[in-house]
Amino acid sequence: MSQDTIFGRILRGEIPCDQVYADEHCLAFRDVTPQAPVHVLVIPRQPIAQLADATEAHEALLGHLLLVAARVAKQEGLESFRTVINSGADAGQTVFHLHVHVIGGRPLAWPPG
Ligand code: AMP
Repeated sequence: MSQDTIFGRILRGEIPCDQVYADEHCLAFRDVTPQAPVHVLVIPRQPIAQLADATEAHEALLGHLLLVAARVAKQEGLESFRTVINSGADAGQTVFHLHVHVIGGRPLAWPPG
């Protein structure tokens, strides 16, 4: 199902992205509408629509996505950064292919809206 999202199309190479990292499990690329000087999305190659759908079978993959998020933040020169996973429409999820936002490069307020 989530292969039909725009991120599925990016994974299949059907539309371009500004890639910053890739490995056998995931892809990281710049958000097309950045909310900060650095705004990267880390997505699994495996189609999981939202975090709420993840199971214990995804435990290692979820850990990998967070390690890649930290790696990307370091690669981008960030000492401080925020990771966000929106799960569900009311949480602000608009693309139903699991993704980790990596946001930084400016002071970030808390709590978020
Ligand atoms: P979310 O609202 O958590 O589902 O986040 C989806 C994110 O995907 C938003 O920040 C969008 O700006 C971003 N986005 C949508 N289409 C693309 C695209 N083609 N390339 C890069 N980022 C995208």
